[in-house]
Amino acid sequence: MSADGQHVEVAVIGAGSVGLAVAHYLVRNHGVSRIAIVDPRDPMSLTSAQSGENYRNWWPHPTMTAYTNDSIRLMEQIARETDNRISMTRRGYALLTRRSDPDDLIEDLYRGYAGQAEDLIRIHEGNGAHSAYKPALSANWEDAADGVDVLRDRSFIRQTFPAYAHDVATVLHIRRAGSISGQQLGQYMLETIKSAGGRLIRGEVVGIDGPAPFVLSVATKGEVVRLRAERIVNAAGPFVQNVAALLGEDLPVSSVYQQKIAFEDHEGAVPRNLPFSIDLDGQTLNWTEEEKAILADDPATVHLTKFIGGGIHCRPDGAEAGKWIKLGWAFNERASDPNEPEPTDEHFPDIVLRAASRLQPALGAYVGRLPRGAHHYGGYYTMAKENWPLIGPMTTPGAFVAGALSGFGTMAACATGLICAAWVMGTELPPYARMLSLDRYSDPAIMADLATLQSRGML
Ligand SMILES: Cc1cc2nc3c(=O)[nH]c(=O)nc-3n(C[C@H](O)[C@H](O)[C@H](O)COP(=O)(O)OP(=O)(O)OC[C@H]3O[C@@H](n4cnc5c(N)ncnc54)[C@H](O)[C@@H]3O)c2cc1C
Repeated sequence: MSADGQHVEVAVIGAGSVGLAVAHYLVRNHGVSRIAIVDPRDPMSLTSAQSGENYRNWWPHPTMTAYTNDSIRLMEQIARETDNRISMTRRGYALLTRRSDPDDLIEDLYRGYAGQAEDLIRIHEGNGAHSAYKPALSANWEDAADGVDVLRDRSFIRQTFPAYAHDVATVLHIRRAGSISGQQLGQYMLETIKSAGGRLIRGEVVGIDGPAPFVLSVATKGEVVRLRAERIVNAAGPFVQNVAALLGEDLPVSSVYQQKIAFEDHEGAVPRNLPFSIDLDGQTLNWTEEEKAILADDPATVHLTKFIGGGIHCRPDGAEAGKWIKLGWAFNERASDPNEPEPTDEHFPDIVLRAASRLQPALGAYVGRLPRGAHHYGGYYTMAKENWPLIGPMTTPGAFVAGALSGFGTMAACATGLICAAWVMGTELPPYARMLSLDRYSDPAIMADLATLQSRGML
C-alpha cells in the first residue's frame, strides 16, 4: 500500500523477526494501533529466513540468561495461546567436548546461571550417579526438565547418545532449549498487528527528516512517498547501520556472514530424537595431502588447512518421522559489508560435513556425496563486539534501535520486542534492559565486567 500523507504514532523499519516483535508488543502491551512496518521485502524473508530456529537459555553472563529466559517465557505464552502454532519443542542443547575436566565451561555455567546455579546445575559423575538424569524422551516443551545436566562418565554418555563418537568425555545438556518455527511466530505476529489496525508498507526507507516528529521518505515502485511518524524504530537487521546513517548516527556493530546446510538424511545418520548437538572442540580438518596442498596454495582457502575453533552444530529438523537435518558452523570471523553480494563459500558444505562427522561418524557417509536437493544458505550475524544486542534509544530523540541480534534473533525476538516497545512508550523496563542498550558503553562497570568474559556465547 502507498504511504503518502499517512501519519502514524510509530513507524518500525524492517519486517524481520525483530521488527515484527517490536510492533507486536506495541500493539499487545500498549494498545498502539496507528503503527506502520516498512519493508521492501516480504516479511521474514531476509536474515530471519536463514535462522536455524534454535533457542536456549545458556549464556556465559546472567544478563543474557535473564533476557533469553524472558523471551522463552513469552514464546511459551504464545505457544499456549495458539495451540503451539509455533511448533515449540524442547529436547535441549547438548554441548560436547573430549575434555574430561572442562573447568572453564563449568565456570561459565555457574556464572551464567548466577543466583540459581545451585538449583539448576546437576553434575553427574561416578558410578550410578546418573540415575537422576532424565533423557529428553519427548520433544514436548511442557514435559521437559529444567536446568543443566553435566554428564561426565564416558560409558554413560555412550549408552545415552550412541550416535556420538566414543571420545566424548563431557556433555553439558542444557534443558531449557530447543526449536521453534520462527516463520510461524512472525506470521502470527503480523496477523495480530494487522488485526489491531497496523499496516505493512512495501518500500525502502531512503531518507529520514527528524528529530520527532519524523518524515520518512519511502521508495516504493518508481516513486518516493512520505510517511510521518511520532517515533521510529530501526529494526533493519544487517542494514541497521544504513538506517542509522540516515539519522547521521553510527552504531557499534559489524556483520559477519555465517552459513548452514540442510539435507535429507537418507542414511539415518542423525537419530530423530537427538538434542541440538554442538561440538565445542576445534579441529584441523582431515584433508588428503593433495587437497591440503591445493587449499594451502590459495590465500582465500589457506585458513581451511589450519586449526578452526569449535561450535559445529547439527540437529534433526522437522517432524520426528521426517528425514531432514541441519548443520552449521559459525567459524567465520571476518566482517563484510551487507550492501555487497553475499560472500557464500562454495567449500562450506564439504567443510561442515567433514567437521561434523568427527562428532557423529555416520555423517562421514555424506562427505563428497551431499544428497541431491540439499540446501546451502547463509546470512549475517549483525553484532556488537561483546555479542549483546542493542535495544533502546538512539541518540536522535524519538528514534530507537532493536538490532545486533547476531545468532540469537529468533529466540530473543519476543523479549526484544517487549523491551523496545517499553522504551518507545516510556514504561517500566526489565532490570537488565539498560545493559542491552547503547547506554552500556558509557558505564565503566559494565564494560569492565564484559572484559572478564571467557566466551561470548557464540554458537
Ligand atoms: C545462518 C544463521 C543461523 C541462525 N540461527 C539462529 C538460531 O538458531 N536461533 C536464533 O535465535 N537466531 C538465529 N540466527 C539469527 C537470527 O536469524 C537473526 O538474529 C534474526 O533473524 C535477525 O532478525 P532481524 O529482524 O533483526 O533482521 P532481518 O530478518 O534481516 O530483517 C531486517 C529487515 O529490515 C529490512 N530493511 C533493511 N533496510 C531497510 C530500509 N532502509 N527500509 C525498510 N526496510 C529495511 C530488510 O528488508 C529486512 O526484511 C541465525 C542467523 C543466521 C544468519
